[in-house]
Amino acid sequence: MADRKELFFEPKSVYEGADEALGESIMRFAEGYKSFIDAARTERLAVAEAVKLAEARGFKPFKFGDKPVSGDKIYYVNRDKALMLAVIGSEPMSAGINLAAAHVDSPRLDLKHRPLYEDSGIALLKTHYYGGVKKYQWVTVPMALVGTVVRADGSKAEISIGLKQGEPQFLVTDLLIHLAGDQMRKKADEVISGENMNLLFGSRPDPEEGSDRVKLAVLRLLNEKYGITEEDFLSAELSAVPAAPAVDVGIDRSMVGGYGHDDRVCAYAELMAILDTEAPKKTAVCLLVDKEEIGSEGVTGMLSRSFDRFIDALCGYDGLYECFANSLCLSADVCNAFDPSFAEVSDKRNGAQLNGGVAIMKYTGSRGKSGSNDASAETVGRVRRMFAENGVVWQMGELGKVDQGGGGTVAKYTAQRDIDTIDAGVPVLCMHAPFEVISKADLYMTYKAMLALYGEK
Ligand code: MN
Ligand code: MN
Repeated sequence: MADRKELFFEPKSVYEGADEALGESIMRFAEGYKSFIDAARTERLAVAEAVKLAEARGFKPFKFGDKPVSGDKIYYVNRDKALMLAVIGSEPMSAGINLAAAHVDSPRLDLKHRPLYEDSGIALLKTHYYGGVKKYQWVTVPMALVGTVVRADGSKAEISIGLKQGEPQFLVTDLLIHLAGDQMRKKADEVISGENMNLLFGSRPDPEEGSDRVKLAVLRLLNEKYGITEEDFLSAELSAVPAAPAVDVGIDRSMVGGYGHDDRVCAYAELMAILDTEAPKKTAVCLLVDKEEIGSEGVTGMLSRSFDRFIDALCGYDGLYECFANSLCLSADVCNAFDPSFAEVSDKRNGAQLNGGVAIMKYTGSRGKSGSNDASAETVGRVRRMFAENGVVWQMGELGKVDQGGGGTVAKYTAQRDIDTIDAGVPVLCMHAPFEVISKADLYMTYKAMLALYGEK
């Protein structure tokens, strides 16, 4: 007769039974991660940083027409905003690939195409927020301005102001409490209006006589440093992103706080895993895509055929469907960590816990799993065995109580391609806030999970 211990399931934390060596690995891994997210503030910067790390580990740029062979390490950049890396396996592509897919875009404040104006002696930049944000969280937060401007002659200016020590920063202002009587009675989603999220950009007038002298002065500064004019904002992608560097959180330094964990934390885990993958049986593919936060649209999002084109090329333009049908994908995206201060939105028994390890989400979605990939029992079973064989501490999670809300990831778009897919990622506190928090232990276990995927037999 089976005893209680065999019959009951009790999830364990990463730290339960962890030896000193594991504790050290967890702490060390997070150091590299903090440097990564400090550099990777946008999808472009994340791709550039990932390419730098990959090249240092012997990955070579893939050109269409190349015929990579077993053991080759290659990467392909799609329009500077999405990245695909592969380690070619010993088995043919028709056996399928082991794919991990994360996104490298995060919520932020994008500048409008005519952003700059002067009002009451203050120069401001108009923004349009990107992704799902609680707007009231994004006011009075020190921001940096980063992005790319294409000048009239087609040349590019890469802008970055506010990330380096000593550089000026920017912010969206909020109303002083003394005059906020009306504001404080508004609903949270109306407290700050999107149209009022203007970035404080300058206040010192140019000595030249005329109107808009503060605007003139800031344009002169931009022109001197970057060679751009007001018209060049029309062909620009400039974003205000939280400027603070990632830091340890907690007196025990067990957590990391910073901007953009969603989803650069999973991107980093799968990137490090593929850099550490040697001679896999099946071809290992690490995919870092853009535009997840606004529905995976656009040429650099998961809905773009650029991914299919890359895999088709690796297949030798033969048997792409066969390859997809035999593939496995971990859609590596963050989920919510159970927050005891907001316990009412979660089913504690079924939500992911901080330090519970990499979180598998069988389904996401909302209102009856709508819009979810909903992985099969077979896929969960396969991943469960894979993690058990590789010492990966993992847990199951779900995005809040039934009918509480919900969300989605790129999982359904890889599944649409006939790839068995399941969500697996790092639980996050304060998701989509300018300062999010993750556990170092969960990050490390997500890296181990991705390593297990790439090494799957
Ligand atoms: Mn995400
Ligand atoms: Mn998100």
